[in-house]
Amino acid sequence: MGKKPEKKDTNDSAAGIPDAFKGLLSPKSETSVDSSSSTKQNESYAKIDPPDVEKLGRSSWTLLHLIAATYPETPSNKQQADMKQFLKLFGNFYPCWFCAEDFEKYMTKNEPVTETQDQLGRWLCDAHNEVNVKLGKPKFNCDLWKKRWKDGWDE
Ligand SMILES: Cc1cc2nc3c(=O)[nH]c(=O)nc-3n(C[C@H](O)[C@H](O)[C@H](O)COP(=O)(O)OP(=O)(O)OC[C@H]3O[C@@H](n4cnc5c(N)ncnc54)[C@H](O)[C@@H]3O)c2cc1C
Repeated sequence: MGKKPEKKDTNDSAAGIPDAFKGLLSPKSETSVDSSSSTKQNESYAKIDPPDVEKLGRSSWTLLHLIAATYPETPSNKQQADMKQFLKLFGNFYPCWFCAEDFEKYMTKNEPVTETQDQLGRWLCDAHNEVNVKLGKPKFNCDLWKKRWKDGWDE
């Protein structure tokens, strides 16, 4: 299980929401959860739960690494500026608030490197490793980022 958010408020109006989902609510919105929703469930839909922090994380890293894998090898100045802006906004709006806080701190200390595709891929790999270490997971060898996310492994 991933890192849990510290409890910010003893008046926990998000009671009843499984712990794994609570990180997806901002501290502010935790106090405004409406548990009396009258939305009628459509029984023809598969009842798939909202993603928790881990599922969100896996999907998000997939998106981020694939964006690096399809980023131009030699991006224009505008593409570089756009990528920096994208990462900033991504951190700003990332739906797990405590992940977002740390990711934003990481970006302040380690500005995204966007000069080439390989540099961006390695920067993201390092950012991902920072989280891996925080969660007690092994580091990924960043020399292999392209094999994992772009070229595939040798036979
Ligand atoms: C920006 C961000 C911040 C996050 N912060 C937190 C947090 O603070 N607390 C928390 O509990 N969870 C956080 N997460 C989620 C966490 O990183 C994992 O996604 C989640 O725990 C699921 O882990 P996993 O073991 O399935 O693999 P993931 O870590 O999701 O990795 C998916 C796949 O990526 C590959 N991979 C692993 N490491 C690297 C790397 N360094 N470079 C390239 N590829 C790699 C592996 O093949 C792996 O199977 C964050 C996610 C994101 C996107």
